[in-house]
Amino acid sequence: MTIPPPNILVVDDTLANLQLLVGMLKERGYKPRVASGGELALQAVRSEPPDLILLDINMPDMDGYQVCEALKSDEKLKEIPVIFLSALNETSDKVKAFRAGGADYITKPFQFEEVDARVRTHLELRRQRLELKENNDRLRELERLRDNLTHMIVHDMRTPLTVILGAIGLMLSENPPQKEGAVKTQRLAHNSALKLKEMTTQLLDISRLEAGQMPVNRTEGDLVQAARIALDFVSPAAAGRNLLLTSTGPFPAVFDAELIHRVLVNLVTNAVKFTHAGGEVKISVTREASAVRVAVADDGAGIPPEHHGKIFDKFSQVEGENKKLGAGLGLTFCKLAVEAHGGRIGVESEVGKGSTFWFTLPSEK
Ligand code: ADP
Repeated sequence: MTIPPPNILVVDDTLANLQLLVGMLKERGYKPRVASGGELALQAVRSEPPDLILLDINMPDMDGYQVCEALKSDEKLKEIPVIFLSALNETSDKVKAFRAGGADYITKPFQFEEVDARVRTHLELRRQRLELKENNDRLRELERLRDNLTHMIVHDMRTPLTVILGAIGLMLSENPPQKEGAVKTQRLAHNSALKLKEMTTQLLDISRLEAGQMPVNRTEGDLVQAARIALDFVSPAAAGRNLLLTSTGPFPAVFDAELIHRVLVNLVTNAVKFTHAGGEVKISVTREASAVRVAVADDGAGIPPEHHGKIFDKFSQVEGENKKLGAGLGLTFCKLAVEAHGGRIGVESEVGKGSTFWFTLPSEK
């Protein structure tokens, strides 16, 4: 495919200047068009947008600044680079030209080499900008398709998964019970199906939170009480880790009890998962200016500093020891859920010493 020569619009009310520039541009392989005034220039640009405009400043009726401002306020035309041409050589004229949206400024009498060099530079910049925008648009579209596809798959997986769980549940509750081997296999299948279902719920919740479509039913509650409930919920799986609540409260805040319960359970479960047997997981609740702060601290593996910034991103996991079973979605859910309340979330951690995950929630509506 041959690339057409760049289309350049030359705007000047002096015929001699037009002829000079057009001759020069043709000689260098460009395809110049001309306009002898501001209004005509705008008409020409609208009927066929050029790749670049060489624009005289001093013209009767509509001067170059006005033409440029009109172009820059038009969504479809504002990306076309404008190079001003002028006999005015004061800094204030140049500043005015750039303020009007000009990309460059050439003083008359012009040198062909200079005009050519500047034209080339701005055409190249424009080409790169367009390429970048195209790539960006393509990436956005791919991202959108991927998200839609993930959403569709995850959404459609829930019904068959529920059926599978129900069927295995029925087998497990059969009377008289089946042989031990069969029960063991069914439990394995049941646990895996449960994990898959949790994952689909998490993915769907994350996409709902990202789209601002998750209902957040905020009511006044006590965060110490919420922490106690979360610790009780996790304690059967804590296997030898000490779970402590160091605040007595109450610490009233305004939050969706169900969502914050899930945030707390996620943080405590992680803390238990990454703490060695005999270790300690501590929840503390403290008051801040107009918020309440909850911190879940463990004395486990800790997280290397380079991961602190991205640990709340989707699918983010720390390689090695820390990468236990999971999909890297729990902290993303926590972040989105806390932010949906207008709160903040963060982590402080040192490898080998442990981690403290904290979040804040507004104490008033
Ligand atoms: P997952 O479901 O995979 O645990 P999360 O989003 O909850 O996903 O956590 C992401 C990653 O952050 C984990 O895989 C782990 O590497 C790290 N992480 C989270 N909590 C802790 C913790 N308390 N101590 C050490 N590492 C942690």
